[in-house]
Amino acid sequence: MRRLDQLLSALGYCSRREAIAFVKEGRVKLGGVVVKRSDQRVDAALITVDDQPLEAPDGLLAMFHKPVGYACTHSADEGPTIYELLPSHWPDRNPAVTSVGRLDKDTSGLLLVTDIGSLVHRYTSPKSDIEKTYLVEVDRELDPALIGIFTKGDLMLRSEDKPCLPAKLEIVSTQTARLTLTEGRYHQVRRMFASQGWQVEKLHRERFGPYELGDLAEGEWQMLVPP
Ligand code: URA
Repeated sequence: MRRLDQLLSALGYCSRREAIAFVKEGRVKLGGVVVKRSDQRVDAALITVDDQPLEAPDGLLAMFHKPVGYACTHSADEGPTIYELLPSHWPDRNPAVTSVGRLDKDTSGLLLVTDIGSLVHRYTSPKSDIEKTYLVEVDRELDPALIGIFTKGDLMLRSEDKPCLPAKLEIVSTQTARLTLTEGRYHQVRRMFASQGWQVEKLHRERFGPYELGDLAEGEWQMLVPP
């Protein structure tokens, strides 16, 4: 059981002070009955605000189809950010909703967003071996020799001290390939191709572990059940 005002502010509905007004206006119900005090202890599962159940009271996990041109940052210095396309109260939750790792501004595709710190850690830890699959379009004809180079697990990227782990490469068409990685180094896909003389022109993440974008439209998000 949590204090109602703390609960509403932790879920990004309002500040603790504003919770008093929420309650006065009769917007908050417990088991269908209007709540009178904002400091009362409540069971989150029984609370509604404006007759809607609370959003993800036990932690929020969503899949977002990131478009090109949006940065994965809370700072406005880098131009448009993904948070402009997501519900505006998500960063107001406590902990704030944040992306699980990042995609470059020029990369599109599947990005998980969550306020569950343990999930961010589990999915981004260097020990995590979760698979991420990217569709990659390059500037010139692909060479099937890349399959062996990427699979071998001895590819050294500039200014790194450990080789990249083995990655799976499937050539889809003359200039398009599907690359599956189990790690997430800075600009890794672009740097892997650049190390062999190819420039990545388009990069799109199709899959992150068990999650696939499917037909989720660009700029849209979908709630997931946290594992
Ligand atoms: N690798 C990259 O180079 N960029 C991304 O956004 C993701 C993986």
